[in-house]
Amino acid sequence: MPIKKESNYDLRAHNTFGIDVNAELFITYDTVDELVEVLAAVRGNGKRILHIGAGSNLLFTSDFEGIILHSGIKFIEHLSRNEQQVIVRAGAGVVWDDFCALMAQNKHYGSENLSHIPGEVGAAAVQNIGAYGVEVESIIKQVETIEIATGKPRVFQAQQCHYGYRDSIFKNKLKGQYVVTAVVFSLSTVPKVHLDYGQLQELRALDAMPSAQAIRDAVIAIRKSKLPEPSELGSAGSFFKNPVVPVNVYDEIAATYANVPHYVIDGERVKIPAAWLIEQCGFKGKTHGGAAVYEKQPLIIVNQGHATPTDIMELAEAVKQSVYNKFKINIQPEVNYI
Ligand SMILES: Cc1cc2nc3c(=O)[nH]c(=O)nc-3n(C[C@H](O)[C@H](O)[C@H](O)COP(=O)(O)OP(=O)(O)OC[C@H]3O[C@@H](n4cnc5c(N)ncnc54)[C@H](O)[C@@H]3O)c2cc1C
Repeated sequence: MPIKKESNYDLRAHNTFGIDVNAELFITYDTVDELVEVLAAVRGNGKRILHIGAGSNLLFTSDFEGIILHSGIKFIEHLSRNEQQVIVRAGAGVVWDDFCALMAQNKHYGSENLSHIPGEVGAAAVQNIGAYGVEVESIIKQVETIEIATGKPRVFQAQQCHYGYRDSIFKNKLKGQYVVTAVVFSLSTVPKVHLDYGQLQELRALDAMPSAQAIRDAVIAIRKSKLPEPSELGSAGSFFKNPVVPVNVYDEIAATYANVPHYVIDGERVKIPAAWLIEQCGFKGKTHGGAAVYEKQPLIIVNQGHATPTDIMELAEAVKQSVYNKFKINIQPEVNYI
């Protein structure tokens, strides 16, 4: 399909919160050459440019005045293979879970714990998606991009992406400067499994080493039981990041709440689940206008069907303020406000 440009474009199908907003111009392209052509045409016209994936980590706060780009670059190719490893390249527009499904089917290990995370391959490399003890940076080898300002290609090696918890150079120093066009992954052809997290530990009890497919199936079942399906209930997944706090802050909380869940990062820092902090503040199931803190997982804010961006932002602010008042911890949104 050639480059497609649509004005005053309805974004409801392009944000999993289901917010009813429009984009001034929405452009889709299918190849790197088309992207370069689009960028040359829109560059310098003074309009704001935003590249999105499936919109599963975005909160549109109003209509978007400017140009939204969306990738239709969809391919998955095997570049090389040896006894230990397979190198696979995928287009940025591939649905992330389609990639995970193919990898599990081919008995390639590395992406199975990240199954069923909404979104596309390009955004996965921007966001450093993570779940069940695995972050995508552990399987990323290279990220192929085009610089928006020049249209020039640039390949980032994994270490140049400065990956951190739900973080990368594309979300920080180079925010809005590069479009990811493809990602090169390195997966294991021998079983390399991560089963430390919660219900996944049950797979350890099995006699045989679980296959990538068995882990993927278990992850999907757990996710379906706990998380809202975007097709049924709008959300952008975890609204807040889990805060990392100095040990003394954790110690103070633990003095009052003996069973505060936590994960020791090092001798000085501890990560505390934001969901627990929010639940302690009594927000589980709380509604505000059309928005609500999800009953089954208080880290998620959902659109009950008629939420406005203001409903969601006000509820998020109330949660944040309440957590600060009670614990003196400043939780930060994971969701990108647009
Ligand atoms: C129900 C639910 C569950 C979720 N569970 C998880 C989870 O377990 N773990 C997790 O990490 N996340 C989770 N998320 C969040 C979300 O799925 C991820 O952040 C995902 O990577 C977003 O992908 P997307 O394609 O929708 O990107 P978008 O939300 O459209 O964009 C995210 C960011 O990436 C940028 N971007 C997108 N595509 C490109 C590109 N090609 N080039 C450059 N920049 C780009 C955008 O500008 C934006 O800054 C969940 C979301 C939902 C709705």
